[in-house]
Amino acid sequence: MTTLNRCTSCRAALRVEETGRQGCLACQQTAAQGLRDLSGRTGLYAALSGALAPSGPAVGPRTSGGASEPSLGCDARVLDLMSPTTGVHAVLLSWTVDWYRLMGLRLQDPRFETLCRTLAFHVDWAARQHPAWADFATELRRQVALCREVTGQADRRPTVGTCRRILPDRTECGGDLRYDPETVTTRCRACRTTAPVDWRAVRAAVTRTAA
Ligand SMILES: [Zn+2]
Ligand SMILES: [Zn+2]
Repeated sequence: MTTLNRCTSCRAALRVEETGRQGCLACQQTAAQGLRDLSGRTGLYAALSGALAPSGPAVGPRTSGGASEPSLGCDARVLDLMSPTTGVHAVLLSWTVDWYRLMGLRLQDPRFETLCRTLAFHVDWAARQHPAWADFATELRRQVALCREVTGQADRRPTVGTCRRILPDRTECGGDLRYDPETVTTRCRACRTTAPVDWRAVRAAVTRTAA
């Protein structure tokens, strides 16, 4: 008799080699990839400042009475993500401090690149045993997705089909299936279920993108 353990993040059943973990290996790899995508001079975080309007914030009519609401356009969302108190940096910083605390360490260098490297270095530990692994994985995915949205940097993983999974409410999921070459898996963007890799669809999608 075996108990069926599930990944606390995507709820997929854990495989034998993943027994006892909080998160499955696919979610761990997604998190590691997210940290890689955010970091570096060409990464998503660095691209945020370029996503602000080139004309700068001081252009346009100003109201002294403050009666008119500023439009919540792309710039407001970019500024949110760049905010030192609530933005991407702050989110990663609080997780790094939290992980270090659990490991009995103290964070010396709070720079963004160091945080990305530190979290990536310990991501296997966190996916194995951090009690709030699912919260971290969800929050990181959200930050990466928001950065992609405002910078216009599309996810490079090709769409290879539509998810046919029947959801608990008996409707079909219908989410985009994305193939990730790094993990060699196909996963639904909506319900996060992995699907068997359809090589013909992957080849066709890659050829389409290259064209
Ligand atoms: Zn998972
Ligand atoms: Zn789905």
